Amino acid sequence: MRLEDFAPPWRERLLPAHPGRMVYRCLGCGAQFGIERLLYVCPQCREVLLLEDLHFDRLRERPGAEWRAIFDHRKMLTLPALRGIYRYHEFIGPVVPLEAVVYLGEGHTPVIRANPPLRDRAGVDFGFKHEGQNPSASFKDRGMASAFSYIRTLLAAGHLSQVLAVCASTGDTSAAAALYAAYLQPGIRSAVLLPHGKVTPQQLSQPLGSGAVVYEIPGVFDDCMKVVEALSEDYPVALLNSKNAWRILGQESYAYEIAQDFDYDVGRLVVAVPIGNAGNITAVLSGFLKFHEAGVIRELPKILGVQSEHADPVVRYYEEADPARRRFVPVTVRPSVAQAAMIGNPVSMPRVIRLVDRYNQSAGRERVFFVRVSEQEIMDWQLAANGNGHIACTHGGEALAGLVRAKQAGWIGPEEFAVLDATAHALKFSGFQELYFEDRFPPEFGIRPKPEFRRRPVFIRPADLERVPAPGAPLEGEAMRRFVRRTAEEIASRLGLARTGA
Ligand SMILES: *Cc1c(COP(=O)(O)O)cnc(C)c1O
Ligand SMILES: [Zn+2]
Repeated sequence: MRLEDFAPPWRERLLPAHPGRMVYRCLGCGAQFGIERLLYVCPQCREVLLLEDLHFDRLRERPGAEWRAIFDHRKMLTLPALRGIYRYHEFIGPVVPLEAVVYLGEGHTPVIRANPPLRDRAGVDFGFKHEGQNPSASFKDRGMASAFSYIRTLLAAGHLSQVLAVCASTGDTSAAAALYAAYLQPGIRSAVLLPHGKVTPQQLSQPLGSGAVVYEIPGVFDDCMKVVEALSEDYPVALLNSKNAWRILGQESYAYEIAQDFDYDVGRLVVAVPIGNAGNITAVLSGFLKFHEAGVIRELPKILGVQSEHADPVVRYYEEADPARRRFVPVTVRPSVAQAAMIGNPVSMPRVIRLVDRYNQSAGRERVFFVRVSEQEIMDWQLAANGNGHIACTHGGEALAGLVRAKQAGWIGPEEFAVLDATAHALKFSGFQELYFEDRFPPEFGIRPKPEFRRRPVFIRPADLERVPAPGAPLEGEAMRRFVRRTAEEIASRLGLARTGA
């Protein structure tokens, strides 16, 4: 629907008019800084930042029911700027004018409920929110839409000119950054840094296909991150990692969409998120908190953070039950099929620590849990899910494995429903599936394929056929008829099919 097709009171409410006043807030010393420039750490104490709307209280003046109705009506609106993550404009980026919004089809991914066999196997009722259905096939597009829309805002205001966007990546960040930068030419170019040999061929092909400059660096992601941090400190570049707080804002849309898709009734939900650099879980916590504070939702869902035992610094931190004795210690990562989460020193850890406290306080009880899973469980659950109609990546498998562990630990009640973040499309990580099917995992993964999940193509060539077709050399006449008949018979016999007669 066009704006003018709505009844008069809606016409006014549907276009965002909240005059937000955003600042960077340091999570270390509490100082605030203006947003006319891109800032990634506090100039005073070097701690990470979050964006804060100093006028957030004004959002609470509007009753929750009215917010809910606004978002539901906006769903009908055909205005491109409000079709993606900016449906929640007042909560995501009130300072971004609609003309600056870049929309490439991100957001509003579906939650697909598990079918009965998969539900029974897991022992919990759940659905995957399939983030692989975003334009670059991962949730990172949400954060890029926000960060690039803000860069366009700065360009339009003359605070920036000629932007070189850079990021370090375990694969998906660079795919997303390169895609948005490619769309926004001229004026914006991009360069991405990847750990050599630590991203899948599919992920490597994405920034190359988008025309980004791609640099491969020795080491793992954490090493790459150090290099882009040095670049962003000493040179005029825009850092697109989740250290950039605009990324976090955009990714909050994930929480807002879940709220809306469950009719704002989220008290019995468990939202499970795989953790790497911890930007995603930061955004999910922050998003639900903001909706809760504004009265859009009445209760906070349970949050479940999941990590592989090969990259588990966040789980280790929370394993210490006494908050006063918790110490964050980075870990040295080992190879993981949840490769996009293979991070030993998550940049957003200070944000997580802060937000988990606030979350539990607002809920009045413990609502955030962390769980560790094995590489074997990740692969087995990914294959179980996809064998039941899903398109989950290995991290989606990780989320499901974590849910099963949480259920076994007694953290999930029988009346609860889980929404699992399948953070990327299965195709990006098909190489791991291949290693599994062919039983070729290097020993350090510790993965032994289960027969029930080993799927391989079967080559059919009846031994009694002298000739078979080949590219450029088709069969004809009786030879072709015989090829078709004998091949069909062979397949039918393997499938145990009896002839229907006639
Ligand atoms: C980036 C990424 C993650 C990890 O998200 P963080 O925000 O780094 O915690 C998980 N899965 C996929 C597919 C990713 O691309
Ligand atoms: Zn500070």
